[in-house]
Amino acid sequence: VERRGMHRIDPATGDALEPVAEHDAEDVDAALDEATAAFESWSDTRLEERRRLLTEAADVLRDRTEEFARLMTREMGKPIEGARAEVEKSAWGLDHYAEHAPEYLADEHIGTEAGTKSFVSYEPLGPVLAVMPWNYPFWQVFRFAAPNLVAGNVGLLKHASNVPECALAIESVFEEAGFPEGVFRTLVVGSERAEEVIRDDRVRAVTLTGSEPAGRAVGGAAGEELKPSVLELGGSDPFVVLDDADLAAAASVGASARTLNSGQSCIAAKRFVVHTDVYDEFLERFVAEMESLVVGDPTDEGTDVGPQAREDLMAEVHEQVTASVEAGATVETGGEPLDRDGFFYPPTVLTDVPRDAPLGCEEVFGPAAAVFEVESEAAAVELANDSDLGLGASVWTEDLERGERVARRIESGGVFVNELTKSDPRLPFGGIKDSGYGRELARQGIRAFLNEKTVWVQ
Ligand code: NAP
Repeated sequence: VERRGMHRIDPATGDALEPVAEHDAEDVDAALDEATAAFESWSDTRLEERRRLLTEAADVLRDRTEEFARLMTREMGKPIEGARAEVEKSAWGLDHYAEHAPEYLADEHIGTEAGTKSFVSYEPLGPVLAVMPWNYPFWQVFRFAAPNLVAGNVGLLKHASNVPECALAIESVFEEAGFPEGVFRTLVVGSERAEEVIRDDRVRAVTLTGSEPAGRAVGGAAGEELKPSVLELGGSDPFVVLDDADLAAAASVGASARTLNSGQSCIAAKRFVVHTDVYDEFLERFVAEMESLVVGDPTDEGTDVGPQAREDLMAEVHEQVTASVEAGATVETGGEPLDRDGFFYPPTVLTDVPRDAPLGCEEVFGPAAAVFEVESEAAAVELANDSDLGLGASVWTEDLERGERVARRIESGGVFVNELTKSDPRLPFGGIKDSGYGRELARQGIRAFLNEKTVWVQ
């Protein structure tokens, strides 16, 4: 399936959208020069001023919510209500760092010898490149930009090739908010041109949110250049339902957790691991919840599940489902693309999935869930951890101590008990194993690309 370049297709209709011009080598070179120059003054700008500009950017986002939401819906098919919520969440991310930057960036004093002052000073590194995915085209960018810009770094964005208008719109937010020129720039380039930017001396660090292959390429180049990197990659999050869970809540939140963003979320629940004592009842409720979701036009307010963002991505989900069925899985609901224009895949539930079938061991980036039956809590933990990925996880039990105990035993960057996995600017976010390394958000996220400088004064 043809997809590369900046030739975009409206995923709800299959119609071509006007192409967006790529930046050529000269444009990129000029942007990197500008970023270098901007860093000189931006890193020296008073923190109060950087915080004020972040707040201004949050206001611009809120003022232009409808415009930006419609843009996301058009470029990548996000249901409109979720798109509006994403703009609001991006503004929250900016506000969070505007408010907490003084605390996050304060010198950290450490007692050493008597009469000596010793402390850690948190200082920016320079231009940071962000290689970003299309699935949360605004939020992913702001969760990188807010901490970095307030800390004095400058931002360069290489967004996914199917959302160039979102990328340019984000640049315009910083411009309109009054940020100095060059502090945040969008480079409209395809992935084949990311490496030259990563290796450029003017770029001091790189963060990627995307797939595992992209992570290996970007992390590999950054490693060779000895530049720090953060990799936020895929997930195959377990959703563990224990024998004492509130099944109505688990089934309803589980269906949302799988189909969030039309199933295209790194922290979507993907493997449902259910205790045998409640398996039948949970499955019945979960299938009913999945079947009750409204699949349709993403511009309709009532739509729960919109189209998949690209035809090739929908084809990949369908291949994973088909191969799992061939390996012995049973289709409880869904399982075939919808017969209509656009790239619509229905909420799908599979049982009897062999662990080595695609739905058992690969990330499924679409609304298809695998439900597994386990004999005990220990077996649930074992299955949950039987994955190369380790991003998020959710555990359902009415016994909160038990929930916490199980949470500590799950191999992932985050575990939510009686809640779906979500990102929140107040909490660090990231993965372990092949889900990547480093953290975004909260205090941990702002420290990713800072020089933690030791100062000793005697
Ligand atoms: P993707 O194909 O890896 O693309 C992500 C970004 O990386 C795009 O900008 C893409 O550019 C670029 N890219 C791809 N291959 C590259 C390479 N070899 N070198 C340099 N850049 C490269 O992923 P996607 O399909 O957009 O997004 C879905 C994936 O992202 C899923 O695996 C999902 O789990 C993951 N994700 C993770 C998180 C998290 O926080 N952990 C959040 C959201 C999504 P082009 O578009 O130009 O190819």
